[in-house]
Amino acid sequence: MNYKIIRSRRKTLALHVNSDATLTVKLPYGVSQAYAEEFIAKKRRWIEKKQAEFIATREKHKPKQFVNGEEFYFAGRKYELEIIPGSKAKLALTAVGKFRITQKCLEAPKHYVEWFCKQFAKQYLEGRTSELAEALGYKYRSIKINSAKTRWGSCSRSGNINYSWRLVMMPAEMIDYVIVHELVHLEIHDHSGRFYSRLASFMPDHKRREKWLKENAGMASVI
Ligand SMILES: [Zn+2]
Repeated sequence: MNYKIIRSRRKTLALHVNSDATLTVKLPYGVSQAYAEEFIAKKRRWIEKKQAEFIATREKHKPKQFVNGEEFYFAGRKYELEIIPGSKAKLALTAVGKFRITQKCLEAPKHYVEWFCKQFAKQYLEGRTSELAEALGYKYRSIKINSAKTRWGSCSRSGNINYSWRLVMMPAEMIDYVIVHELVHLEIHDHSGRFYSRLASFMPDHKRREKWLKENAGMASVI
């Protein structure tokens, strides 16, 4: 197993699997490499599991190739890309889990797929926001869809909610988290303790969802 050794004035040995799946061993001065090797051998299963996780994450974040069978996610549902003949640009999701696009779309696939995602996002996010707002007793003024890469949503003081269309590539429960977060902002405009306790009252596991979104933000840049 390949690894890089960093020696320092630390007291204990530490193994670190980096996000590019390489291994770093932090060694105190005076500890032999043989000892490190032994330690790595003992932890081999854990190391390999971590490495596999990072590789899987990288695959998931790989830019789309727009080839038949490639997986796309819309609100957490998986659709396989199916390219059909056609000289007009058409895109549709089918009930049997296909994301069907015509050959014409391949001339500028990013452009067409982005356009489609925006339409989907508008419909889905408007519908779901209205449902959740009604259930939680909030009233908003309008919903707009933008292309932000790092900000899932925002809410103005006058009650206008903005979402990034990229949000629709996330699982439905994560989309719900962003929607509820913005709805609570209609009432509390900052990220104070009061804001989070209100959020927790509606969504007790909001921290888990927030963490997941942070860790998987890269998924939003695949198109
Ligand atoms: Zn916020």
